[in-house]
Amino acid sequence: MTFDDFKFDESLLEGLYSMGYKQPTPIQEQAIPVILNNKDLIACAQTGTGKTAAYLLPIIHHILKAPTRHLNTLIIAPTRELVLQIDQQIDGMGYFCSVGSIAIYGGNDGITWEKQRHALEEGVDIVCATPGRLIALLQSGKMNFEHLQHLVLDEADRMMDMGFIDDLKTIINYLPKNRQTIMFSATMPPKIRSLANEISNNPEQINIAISKPAAGIVQQAYVVHDHQKEALIKGILKNEDYQSVIIFSSTKENVKALEKVLRPLGSVKAFSSDLEQAEREEIMRDFKGKRLRILIGTDILSRGIDVDGISLVVNYDAPPDPEDYIHRIGRTARASKAGVAITFINERDQMKFFHIEALMGIEVPKMPIPPELGPGPEYNPEANKKKAFSRHGPSKGGGGKGKSKFHQRKK
Ligand code: AMP
Repeated sequence: MTFDDFKFDESLLEGLYSMGYKQPTPIQEQAIPVILNNKDLIACAQTGTGKTAAYLLPIIHHILKAPTRHLNTLIIAPTRELVLQIDQQIDGMGYFCSVGSIAIYGGNDGITWEKQRHALEEGVDIVCATPGRLIALLQSGKMNFEHLQHLVLDEADRMMDMGFIDDLKTIINYLPKNRQTIMFSATMPPKIRSLANEISNNPEQINIAISKPAAGIVQQAYVVHDHQKEALIKGILKNEDYQSVIIFSSTKENVKALEKVLRPLGSVKAFSSDLEQAEREEIMRDFKGKRLRILIGTDILSRGIDVDGISLVVNYDAPPDPEDYIHRIGRTARASKAGVAITFINERDQMKFFHIEALMGIEVPKMPIPPELGPGPEYNPEANKKKAFSRHGPSKGGGGKGKSKFHQRKK
């Protein structure tokens, strides 16, 4: 199947080919025809499957074919980061068409807030928002959803986990009943199904199975406090069986800090996008040639590095979602060799890891921490849920950016 089979508007096809998309992913193959047919949809798909384009492409196509232009689509997502990513994808796909969107999220200043209001008054096709911020705007009476055609809830399960359910119901009350409702969720617990029944009309269901880690990988986890991680990693690296090691950390800053901590152990390098291309290539050559024992990086390392014989992968910070976990640990046990994948789970990351285990359908053994490090936290994901969301918590107040609107070619 190719994108040409969907008979998208030419300018949209141009946009998606210019983004380097060659072939639809499985979720896109299944979801696009349903959305083009104006049916309601509940789709179970994780980040990394191409789920965003799966709903954006048919929606943009509908917008381009609409006889008149009004605020057409509302996309609600749990975090500012996700709202911005969706908005950027609209920018990319809509580069050659005249689709206007606005990202609305919490935590900005009054000027941005004003810009958003102004953009809304000028007219946009797609509003992409976090729930808390959207409610504030709705209550200000600045949004006219009278002609809304599509409602998308992205990462619905995460919005539920973050306590947005009442906000979502309030928002939906403002929307016309005669609309297409599309829900994407990484998991489908009963509460998501019941929300879907409440807000959608005889929806089609699609389920994209998550990939499973290779059989040769021995997975282990340590439930730790942040301050115990350094001593733990040093202890693990004393094991000389681990001759080729990749350590993943969540941010560039953490990668650099960890490199400093591990430098006394000798053969260790941080791999980061800040390095010159030649430096990166040299590090990779040394790592492949087994002249470099330990490589530390962020998720950019997990995609595409093709090195055989990695004996250990350590998730110094738990990965953001199951696909990243599978990509990261898949760096070991390649070509049917055995390998070990160890994940450190602090209190904040417990719920995240619990979801990863649930989606893989396995429980990763929790290893005892060496007694000299003192006791670690209890593994209780449910109780630690609040901490997980305190960093990006529900957004209330603030604003986002506004940008170009109807009938304006971006070319
Ligand atoms: P998502 O699951 O929506 O977070 O998408 C994951 C990544 O895959 C994003 O960087 C998209 O730009 C990219 N992507 C989505 N669809 C395709 C496709 N058909 N071909 C190549 N890349 C894609």
